[in-house]
Formats: sequence, structure tokens, C-alpha cells
Amino acid sequence: MKRVPELPEVEITARLLDEALRGALVESAMAPGINALKTFDPPLTAIEGAAIAGVRRRGKHLVVDLAGDLALLVHLMSAGRLQLYDKRASMRDRTSRLLVRIAGGRELRLREFGTKQRAWVKVLRADAVEDDDALASLGPDAWPDPPPLRELLAAQGARPLHAVLRDQHVVAGIGRSWVDEILWTACLSPFKRADDLSDEEADRLAAAMVERLGGALEHYEKVVALPIPDKLPLPLQVHRRAGEACPRCGATIEAVHYESYVMCYCPVDQTGGKVLKDRRLSRLLK
Ligand SMILES: [Zn+2]
Repeated sequence: MKRVPELPEVEITARLLDEALRGALVESAMAPGINALKTFDPPLTAIEGAAIAGVRRRGKHLVVDLAGDLALLVHLMSAGRLQLYDKRASMRDRTSRLLVRIAGGRELRLREFGTKQRAWVKVLRADAVEDDDALASLGPDAWPDPPPLRELLAAQGARPLHAVLRDQHVVAGIGRSWVDEILWTACLSPFKRADDLSDEEADRLAAAMVERLGGALEHYEKVVALPIPDKLPLPLQVHRRAGEACPRCGATIEAVHYESYVMCYCPVDQTGGKVLKDRRLSRLLK
């Protein structure tokens, strides 16, 4: 199973690429992936000859700003990676979705692993980036300054926290890995209703977002350098650690298995000792 890049993983990618590419000139650009390029006007070739003004993150998206008035908006989805190489890709590399050749020989490459082609790129006018559907529909970023969570989550009614916090329209940047970590750090049940948070619980949740997402980023700043590895060393403590001891209280980490992912939690710290029904298990027992 692929670890989907979430806010800290996309942020470190943006920082490293920004540092390395700011001011660099685009020599040529092409999109070998059939489905990757989602726009046709302006054409991808419009970025040729432009200088890269910077690389930044919004939610789980990357934005490559070009001098002049163009930008590339990139979503890695689950298996895409945006990487900078010293050499150009072989045209036989089937993982290539977008190739941006930089003057001097380097190449910025969107690669996607696996059989599905889901990662995408849009070429947009600079003033259209924030209004693009993908960004306009995002909630506020979870980091560095989480929005006022109590009011925001109250509007989500009975939806459980583990679903609401991964909903990019509510709050942007958190996915399956970091939601487990954040709820564990905040000592909140993944199944707590979104509209059932006290002020104190909402504060704890916000503090956990800052601590864990910011902490992951600090970790990456120390251990990750260009070329960005395909798999980042995520500093996780409970996610996918079912059966191991909780690093805080020593209880056994429990899991709930869904069709395509696993949710992990500590029953002592988060659910008042209650072990939640594992849907996979209960289905097998029927
Ligand atoms: Zn625990």
C-alpha cells in the first residue's frame, strides 16, 4: 500500500524544490502521461523560456510559479512524486507524467508508480490558480495555523472525527496517516462526533495538528535532501502499528480495517478502554 503524501510530505517537497529551482530557466516541457495534463489553454509549451519564481504548497497540492503570469498546479494523488534529477529521464521511463527540462541539464519530473494514472497537472494563468476548482474548494490549511476548529467541526454534525479531519473541504492537508497520529496525540476517539467537541478538546486537537504536522516537517528538514526519495521516512507512532505497544501508555494499539485502509488508535488513551468493532473481522464472523 502506498503512503499518500500529506501536508508535511508535500511541504518538504515544495521547500526543497523551491530552494533548488528558484530562478532556474525552463528549457522545455512535455507530458508523456496520457491523462496527466488536465488543461490545454494555455499549452504546456507556454512555460518554455520562463524562469521558475518559486515552488509552494496548498493543502496537498504543489504550485510551481513561473515568472510572467503562468503556474503549474500539481496533485500527486496517491502514487505521484515530483522530483528533481540531475539527468534527463529515459523516454522509456513509463512512470514519467510530466517532464520539465531545466536549462543546464536538470529535469523536474512528475513520476507515478503503479498502474493507475491519477496524478495530474494543470497549466494556469497566475491569477486563476486560487480560483481553480481544486484549490477554491479546499478548507483552511491544518498547519501552521489551524482554523478555529470547534465552530468549523460543529457544522459537520455527527460525522466522526477521523472522516471529517481527512475531508479536504473542511480542513486541508491531513490524510490517512496523519489523522491517526493527530487524534492519538490529542487523546480523542476517532469516532467522536465532529459536533461534540468542548473548547478544551478543540484546543487539544489544534495543538496536536501543530505538534505532529510541524514535528514531521522538522524531522524531514533534518533527514531528507535532494533527490527526494520515493518513500519518505514518516515519523509515525500509531498509524499501521496495530498490535504494537502504545508509545505513551503501553496498551496494545488496535485497528479498524476498512476496504482500502487501516485506522489505528490506542483504546486506553482514546476510547475509554473500548475496543471498536473491526468491520473486517465482524464481516468474517457473520
Ligand atoms: Zn496509549
